[in-house]
Amino acid sequence: MKDDQGRTTSILCVSRDVTLQREAQLRLKVASEVDALTELLNRRAMKSRLNRAVTRARQTGSRVGLLLIDLDHFKNVNDTLGHPAGDHLLRVLSRRVKSNLPASTTIGRLGGDEFAVLIEDVGDEQQVVGIAHQILKQIVAPITHSGRVINGGMSMGGALFPRDAWDASGLMACADTALNDLKAGGRGGIRMFSDRMTQAAQHAASQLNLARQIIRNRVVEPWYQPKVLLADGSLIGFEALLRWRDPDGTIHLPGSVAEAFKDYELASGLASQMHDRILADMVAWRDRGLPLLPISINAAPVEFMRDDFAVRLLQRLDAHGIAPELIEIEVTEHILLERGAEFVANALRVLKANGVRISLDDFGTGHSSFAHLRDYPVDNVKIDRSFVMRMNGEPTILAIVEAISRLGPALAIDVIAEGVETDRQRETLASAGCRFGQGFLFDRALSAEAVIARLEKIDPPMTWTPHYGRRKPAPRPLAGPGQWTALPSPKG
Ligand code: C2E
Ligand code: CA
Ligand code: CA
Repeated sequence: MKDDQGRTTSILCVSRDVTLQREAQLRLKVASEVDALTELLNRRAMKSRLNRAVTRARQTGSRVGLLLIDLDHFKNVNDTLGHPAGDHLLRVLSRRVKSNLPASTTIGRLGGDEFAVLIEDVGDEQQVVGIAHQILKQIVAPITHSGRVINGGMSMGGALFPRDAWDASGLMACADTALNDLKAGGRGGIRMFSDRMTQAAQHAASQLNLARQIIRNRVVEPWYQPKVLLADGSLIGFEALLRWRDPDGTIHLPGSVAEAFKDYELASGLASQMHDRILADMVAWRDRGLPLLPISINAAPVEFMRDDFAVRLLQRLDAHGIAPELIEIEVTEHILLERGAEFVANALRVLKANGVRISLDDFGTGHSSFAHLRDYPVDNVKIDRSFVMRMNGEPTILAIVEAISRLGPALAIDVIAEGVETDRQRETLASAGCRFGQGFLFDRALSAEAVIARLEKIDPPMTWTPHYGRRKPAPRPLAGPGQWTALPSPKG
């Protein structure tokens, strides 16, 4: 304070306590950066840390490692044990992992059951993998909730700056690609990104694009590979195989769109055109007065992802007036182990109860093949082509083929061998006790028109009734069980 002459006479101090304001600000910042459930950094904070780390690493010439973590079957924990159990699992794991990480690392929860670990000043890939293994160890000790052990597995994808990408979002994408690559071939463990994955991803993307075009242009065509009685080569039915026709009229194989069979929308789109065309072909054959033989249709695992596969197929059969007994659904046994296996089991039961036959494709290539025969309503198994190829050179493979062939009758299941290419294979199979076969030795897949010529040759018109897995006894059996049985043809 100054007097009239401008001299300082006293000093007035004003102070205000801002503690509360500061605390509130801090709390706000924490709240906006921290995930409430696990108290780890949230997605936003993690992204800005990653951005900063990458910028710093560019200046200092150091490396940054990034790990993306996904809990295996977390949805199962939530669905079967409830959300409190799921939350508990996330909290315990977060605490454990955080307290066991080296100082230069930051962990965050990106959402759901996804976490990210940022490793600054990292030496090389091995160090990132080492930290990943340290994290994996944290799920070994049991985590319990309400007296139940709820541990699952963990899958991790890793990437390294600047080796894999030049910026934060690129690095995220690489770690994500590595994670998906790992999950595509099973689950659990750590996989580091590699260029091969980008190529595979590009290849997959172009197949998906192609499948979209095929569906839009409606150029899906079923072709039919004959199934025969090994003893005399007589026709017993067909397997419908997907083909598609390009604008030049060239026919392409399903391998060209194999990726689409892993995508729900695309696989279902292809399947729905296949089913419509197959049933339309059958109706056309029947209208010509030809006998109908059973046709098997392949179904990809993803087609069962929504619980309506069986109902939709049965409605289609009904709309076309095709007896369910004439249709067989081929599923690979791997499908029975995957996520959503209960949908598959449901669908198979509904189909079976309505007369549709169930066939296990590529039998013997999965785990616990024989247990599946006990647990699922199977009418038929297909001995995988790889066994047929190897059985004449490898006694152990031959023993498996013989075991499957003998087991069939014991369990009332038909057995068919696929990929029969030589007479020697046919003979080996026949003496092993396998009665049915399919393969280039007999025929490749035929167009719908070519099938007509085959069906016309069947004289007198006969309909083959499988011996096993049959719902109604066939009228007037002519020969022994499983042999040709004449049925009144639909046109009398
Ligand atoms: P798959 O179900 O195991 O079908 C048998 C495949 O083996 C067919 O190939 C068939 O042409 C081929 N094959 C048959 N006999 C022989 C033989 O003696 N020797 C050899 N080397 N091969 C033989 P294709 O038509 O290329 O089909 C490949 C795969 O694509 C099928 O394997 C199946 O998994 C899938 N696929 C085909 N059509 C469909 C479909 O409509 N839906 C779904 N989801 N998958 C399909
Ligand atoms: Ca098949
Ligand atoms: Ca097969």
